[in-house]
Parts: sequence; C-alpha cells; structure tokens
Amino acid sequence: MTKIEKDLRMIDKLVFVNPLSLSEYENYFENSLKAKSKIRELMNGQDKIVFEVDNDILGEEKERAFREEFRNQLKERYKVSKVFFVVISVMADSNLILNKHKTGMKFTKKVKEALSKENFEDIADEIILMYSQIKNSFIMPKSYFVISIDPTDFVLMGIGKGWKTCYNPIDGDHFTGAFSAGLDSSTILTYFTTDLEDPEKKLYRRLGVFTPDYKGMMLSTQYPYKNSSFEEFTISALKDTIFDKDNFVAKKDKTIRVHKNLSSQIFNDFVSSPSNKKENLYIGNPREEEILHYGANVSCLRCDSKPALQDIPICSDCEYEVVGDDWEEFIT
Ligand SMILES: [Zn+2]
Repeated sequence: MTKIEKDLRMIDKLVFVNPLSLSEYENYFENSLKAKSKIRELMNGQDKIVFEVDNDILGEEKERAFREEFRNQLKERYKVSKVFFVVISVMADSNLILNKHKTGMKFTKKVKEALSKENFEDIADEIILMYSQIKNSFIMPKSYFVISIDPTDFVLMGIGKGWKTCYNPIDGDHFTGAFSAGLDSSTILTYFTTDLEDPEKKLYRRLGVFTPDYKGMMLSTQYPYKNSSFEEFTISALKDTIFDKDNFVAKKDKTIRVHKNLSSQIFNDFVSSPSNKKENLYIGNPREEEILHYGANVSCLRCDSKPALQDIPICSDCEYEVVGDDWEEFIT
C-alpha cells in the first residue's frame, strides 16, 4: 500500500462520508506538495522534521513560575483569607511540579488534609482542580515534536487526544479549511504527539504562517490549551531548523497582522479566535508593519469547477452525487 492509500484509509475511518476517491486524494496530495515547495526547501527537502521530546525534568525556573502562577490564582479567588494561608503554608514545604510535600505525601493530598482540618473540605477539590489546570500548562510529557507540511497532517489537523477544532473531519464546520491550509504556500503545521502514526494522539498543535520572503512567521492559537513549555520548544526547534539564527527574534507583535485570503474556506484563527486565546507571536527576522495572508481557495476536489463547501471539500452538486437519494442512510 502506498502512503497516500494508507492515509486515505485513515481518513475513511474518521469521517462520516469520505467524498474523495483515491485519484482525487492523490490529486490533492500532489497540489499540496507543489504549493509547499518553497517551504520544503527550507526543511531540507523533507515533509516532516521530527524531534524526540524527553520527559523533561523541569528546572527550578519552571517551578518558580508555577508557584507564582498558583499563588496569584489562589489569591485572586480566595483573597488573603484563611484558605489562602492554609494552602500557602503547605506549598512552602512542597515541590509543585513533582506534586510532592516534604513528608513524602502528595502535595494535593496534603492540601486536602490541611483544609479538611479547618473545615474547608468543599474548597479542597476546587483548589486541586486549579492546581491540575495550571500544571497542564507547564508539563511536557515524553512525546515527539513535528514540524510538518505533510498534506495529510493538514487534513487531520483538527483532531487530537480528547479535543477537536472546527477543522475536524468528523463534524467540523470548517473541514475544508484544513485542505485550504494544505494548499496554500505559506502555512506550516507544528504539533506534539505520543504516536506518529495516529492523528488522534496529538497533544497539541499550532499553525505558523510565513512572511512572503519566508524569513519570519506568525504563530497562531495554541490548541487545545496554552502551554509555555510546548511554546518554548516550538520556537527553539523552528529557530534551529528553518530560520536565520543570527537575527532571530520571538515577540508579540501587533503590527504584523495575518488575514485569510478572501474566498478561502479557512477559519481565521488570527482574527476570529476569542480574545483570550488570540495570539500574535512573531518569530524570525525582525520586520516592519505588515499583513500576511494565508489559506488557499479550495475548488471542489471532485469536479474542480465550483468552489468547495466549507464543511466538506467538494461542491454542492458533487455532494448531492455522493449522498444522493440515500441521504437517510448517512443520517442514521
Ligand atoms: Zn464539484
């Protein structure tokens, strides 16, 4: 079986109705590789660059940042109250990243015990949940980091381990947007995964849009959550492989904006994301105010004569041919 056949079979398993035949998918694949030819040059002729990510023993700096974040959120929620002091005193004798109190007990267990003693056991679960959420944004599990222009990686970029985005092939309103990213000349995909063969094992993904001269890139929203360790790894891996190391900057820059190409079916991550998720992290050579564009206009992958719909990469005429009078079969 060729890679394309294997990929199509994987898509078959995930989507409700796969509208694409092997030759149609081969066609998409070839057009995608063509569109990314300049990016492939920067990747030394490869479609994927894979890094092994070690089960990082997180340094003191991370522990410090974790403690500060935990303390801030605790204070914001409980003010300078009895609860605040009880938890802070347990924290003083604990390592948060390792979840370990000096007695050998887990930090979370010790918090629960200390709060129960003061009759705050209801609040304990709330605080433990808060702790886990913050921890999720700091840890870096043993995994692989991938920089990719693989056409199938784009198609399946909307699904991961326990999360989906609007690009997902199952019920995504913008499934065609995934093809749209695969067919433009400026978008690249980065992700962390525990299994290189299984798209549903992706832990985290982030798109990048290149500047027209390919010397810089704007990174998009982090999915499914922000993670400072993943972010740092992503930036340094891109710096080491693709960009000029001498002039490299990584900074929030609102003067460099990203717009989708007008009729592209891509979802505009950069403009339409909720404001708390919105990011404008620019990396690469420093540059002036600029507008970057991304997302190809996907024409029906079947007949190539009308634009594809937003949620399926074919046009409405072809959709009718695929589903036809048997639509009831597809609903049940
Ligand atoms: Zn069509």
